[in-house]
Amino acid sequence: MSHFSEYKDTIQPGDLALVWITRDNIKPLTITPGEAFNTRYGSFPHDDMIGKPYGSQIAVRTKGSDRFGFIHVLQPTPELWTLSLPHRTQIVYTPDSSYIMQRLQCGPKSRVIEAGTGSGSFSHAFARSVGHLFSYEFHEVRYEQARKEFEEHGLLADGNVTITHRDVCLDGFTIKTGDKTTFKLDGTSGRDSAEIGADAIFLDLPAPWDAIPHLDDVITPDAKVRLCCFSPCIEQVDKTLEVLEKFGWTDVEMVEIQGRQYESRRQMVRRLDDALERLRDVRQRKQQGVERRKRMYSKLLNNEEETSDVRPTTTKAQFNPFGKGSRVKEGDTNFQWKEVSKIEPEIKSHTSYLTFASKIMKKERNEELTAQIIEQHKY
Ligand code: SAM
Repeated sequence: MSHFSEYKDTIQPGDLALVWITRDNIKPLTITPGEAFNTRYGSFPHDDMIGKPYGSQIAVRTKGSDRFGFIHVLQPTPELWTLSLPHRTQIVYTPDSSYIMQRLQCGPKSRVIEAGTGSGSFSHAFARSVGHLFSYEFHEVRYEQARKEFEEHGLLADGNVTITHRDVCLDGFTIKTGDKTTFKLDGTSGRDSAEIGADAIFLDLPAPWDAIPHLDDVITPDAKVRLCCFSPCIEQVDKTLEVLEKFGWTDVEMVEIQGRQYESRRQMVRRLDDALERLRDVRQRKQQGVERRKRMYSKLLNNEEETSDVRPTTTKAQFNPFGKGSRVKEGDTNFQWKEVSKIEPEIKSHTSYLTFASKIMKKERNEELTAQIIEQHKY
C-alpha cells in the first residue's frame, strides 16, 4: 500500500512522514526507533514522535536556554511532496496539476500516460487519483532515481504506477518484453506487449510534436481520449497545434494559469488635509535644518564653542497616513478605513501554456449497445 494513499491516525516505526520545519522547509523522514532528526532548531528523537497522532507538534528544549524548537510531523500527500521533493528538473506544481487532472477527467478508472517523469511531482498526484499511470523518462539517471523513489513510496509493486526508460519521441509508448521497465509481462496472456489503453495523456516534454504521432498505438479505441501538453514557449504550442490537427485531435484549447493570492486588507482613508499637514511638516523640518546648518558654519568660522543650541527643536512626527511617523494598528477606531483587496506581486505556480485536445478513435456507432441503452431508458 502506498504511503501516499494510506491514511493513518498515529505515527509508527517505518512510516514515511513529512516534517514541517518552516513554510519553505519540509523534509521527508522515515521513522526509525533510536534515531534523531537534526535541525537548526534542535535534535528531535524519532521515539518522541512514535505513537503521536499525525499532525502533532513535537518540541525540544534548545540546549542551554529556556526556549523550545518545534516541528510538525505530517502524513505524506502529493501536495506536500511537491513542496518537499528533491528537484531534478522543473516540476509541475499543484495549481497546475489539479487543474490538468480535472480537465483530463481523471478518476479511479483512468489509464494515464505521462512523459517525462522528471522529478515525479505530477506522478504522485496522478498515482493517488487514477487507475493506472504509465510514466516514461529517457534520462537514465533520472529514470533510476524516480523508480527507486516510487518503489520506496509503495507506488510500484503494490501500487498503480509503471515507469519505463524510453525516448518516447523516437520509440513511442508501447512496452514490450525486454524493455527497461517496471511492467511485469506475465506471459500467460499470450501478449508480448503491455495493454495500455490510455484515456488521458500528459506530455511535459520539449518536443511533444514528436511524441504525438506515436499515441494512436496506445490509446483506447473505446472512449474519448483527452490530452494535455505543458509547454513554456508559445512557439512550442504552435508546433504542437500543427501536429494535433494532422493526427486528428480535436477540441483544441490553450490555457495559461496564473496562480495568485488575493488578500483582504483595510487601508486608511487619506484626505487632502492630511496631505497638506504632511507638506507643512516637511517644510518646517527642512527650514529648521537649514537654519541649524547656518548656525553651525557661522560658529565654526568665528571659532566659537558648540552649544546644545544645535539640537533640533521639532517634536517627533505624529502618525500621518503617508507612511512617516508613529505606527497605527490596522483597523484602529480613531481613524477611518476602507476595505481593499491586495494581490501578491509574484505569480506562484510555474506557468506554462497548457494545450488541451481530445480524440475519438472509433467513431462508428455500436448499434447493439445503443439498442440496449434505449431499451433500458424506455418508460
Ligand atoms: N512533470 C515532471 C514533474 O512534475 O516532476 C517534470 C518533467 S521535466 C520538466 C521533463 C522530463 O522529460 C525530463 O526529466 C526529461 O529528461 C524528460 N524527457 C525529455 N524528452 C523526453 C523524451 N523524448 N522521452 C522521455 N522523456 C523525455
